[in-house]
Amino acid sequence: MLLACGDCGTIQRSPDGRAGFGLRCCRCDGTLARRNPNGRDTALALSLATLFLLFPANLLTLLHFSVAGIDRSSRLGSGVAWMWAEGWPLLAVIVALQAVVLPFLRFGLLSAVLLTLRFGRGAPPNWTGPAFRWAERLDVWAMVDVFLIGAGIGYGRVASRMPVEIGPGGWALIAVAFLTLLTRASLDRRAIWQAIGTPSPGGAGDIACQECQLVLPRSAAGRPCPRCRARVHPRRPGSLTVATALVGAGYLLYLPANWLPLSVNVQFGQEQTHTIIRGVQELVSAGFWPIGLIVFTASIGIPLLKLIGLTWLIWSARHGSTRRLVLRTRLYRGIAEIGRWSNVDVYTIAVFLPLMQFQSIVAVRAAAGAPAFLAVVVLTMFAARAFDPRLMWDAARS
Ligand SMILES: [Zn+2]
Ligand SMILES: [Zn+2]
Repeated sequence: MLLACGDCGTIQRSPDGRAGFGLRCCRCDGTLARRNPNGRDTALALSLATLFLLFPANLLTLLHFSVAGIDRSSRLGSGVAWMWAEGWPLLAVIVALQAVVLPFLRFGLLSAVLLTLRFGRGAPPNWTGPAFRWAERLDVWAMVDVFLIGAGIGYGRVASRMPVEIGPGGWALIAVAFLTLLTRASLDRRAIWQAIGTPSPGGAGDIACQECQLVLPRSAAGRPCPRCRARVHPRRPGSLTVATALVGAGYLLYLPANWLPLSVNVQFGQEQTHTIIRGVQELVSAGFWPIGLIVFTASIGIPLLKLIGLTWLIWSARHGSTRRLVLRTRLYRGIAEIGRWSNVDVYTIAVFLPLMQFQSIVAVRAAAGAPAFLAVVVLTMFAARAFDPRLMWDAARS
């Protein structure tokens, strides 16, 4: 069987391999397949459980406290409603998509595909290919696991001042976050693509679909992939130009994201601005230095390393450098994986906002740094997707 590596573009013949063992690319050492004999049933069970628990995680109370007759509670969507009401519609929409809407879509599509493959008779229907492609694309954008870390930090900030209880929605959110990680780990993507069907197009296998890695003859370029319906391109069109533009915009916004306050605390009429670095300082001086370290790494370190890393990758691909290809491919995989975790600080505010409202005495508001920060995360995630790592290997091939 022919397998294409999505990271370096090498098309290689796979050995039969025993179940339970992984297959690695002969060229860039990336994982080609993780064979798991019961993978599909496990993934189906985990995906259905996640979808089911998303309802209580969204509908029930996340955090709750009552002090001196004042009751405050926070749900997953209530921070979004506050951001909207305070005049940050873009921030509200993106957080709502990442934390509420896309998780339902991702696990709804995944469950539908896996259920059809498990219980359907005959050949899988045509919609399963595009549905699984979208489920996989939404994987990095459905951020319940990242939201949980943000909620945990928000909980720590409030709990240091007043007694907060974790509500039933909070426990459901914890379960959803762990199930999300387990689903990702148990999913044998190649096996699912194979089960969806590999129509043999005939002819030599020269190129591969960039979405489902189906090996196709060169004549298939520019037409929809027979399996996942994405338009097939030997390399992502305009990859380096688009990635350069997105990284440039990311650099421009990185400074305001760190310079401008993410939120403003109003206490007895006095305003106190809250930048990322100031939040880290407060956490460290209050003795929560491990959390401070997490926030510093996720919010300041990772976005900057991502921008510098992507700059190096784009520059070396443009110049056709043949050095350190395996290292650069590993760096690319790391950047694509880790980028989403930068969002924790924005999510902390989303949890924090609805709890910290006491009429005119104490209030917290989102500020201009928050949308700038979110934009850096989103732009660099799109840049990582636009960049085609196979372009780096083309230099070595020619
Ligand atoms: Zn490879
Ligand atoms: Zn495809």
